[in-house]
Amino acid sequence: MSSQSSIPWFDDFVGVAYRYYDLRMNVVPLFTDRKQSASLWHDTIHWWVDPSIKIRFLEMADKYWFILGADSQKPETNLSFFKELPKSENYERFKKGHGGEAYLRLGVYTKKILDDVKKDALCDCEHEAQDHDESDNDVCLYNKCNCKKFSSFQINLLKKKKTITDIKFLEEKDVKNDPLVWNCLNVNRYSKYQEN
Ligand SMILES: [Zn+2]
Ligand SMILES: [Zn+2]
Repeated sequence: MSSQSSIPWFDDFVGVAYRYYDLRMNVVPLFTDRKQSASLWHDTIHWWVDPSIKIRFLEMADKYWFILGADSQKPETNLSFFKELPKSENYERFKKGHGGEAYLRLGVYTKKILDDVKKDALCDCEHEAQDHDESDNDVCLYNKCNCKKFSSFQINLLKKKKTITDIKFLEEKDVKNDPLVWNCLNVNRYSKYQEN
């Protein structure tokens, strides 16, 4: 019997980025607040035992559950992470390309507006900042683009990292065989459904 079931679940982060960096795929839970991410690393992830870090991707149609947990040298401050997210191109690229190993890092996600960026910065609509009209609410002037306002984001990766070597992609039928995922769903999904 593992102590897994007593570890609290944490989902107060905005998403997960997948980036090549240092020649390896990085899995990057994203925070909007630098201090929050730094203290989470300091209090929790720093104490994780690398070979025990598990990352699970539970796939359901166009979404997936991101589930991350580990044994800690300081069990009293340990947390497990989860988030339900839409599948993305970067996610699919990670799934294909990770090769069984990844770095875990935390990242700080910052929204950018037109005033913050250089002319060639890309908007979420994939057109450059200079294609957006500052005099008209930042509307995109590119042919047929229906973007009404420039918006972009920047991700800063924190330097500290852990190595993950236990990476699995699962379907719902596999859930019962994986204690971490099973616990996650029991606490965060099935129980909530029963309340509703
Ligand atoms: Zn745009
Ligand atoms: Zn555009």
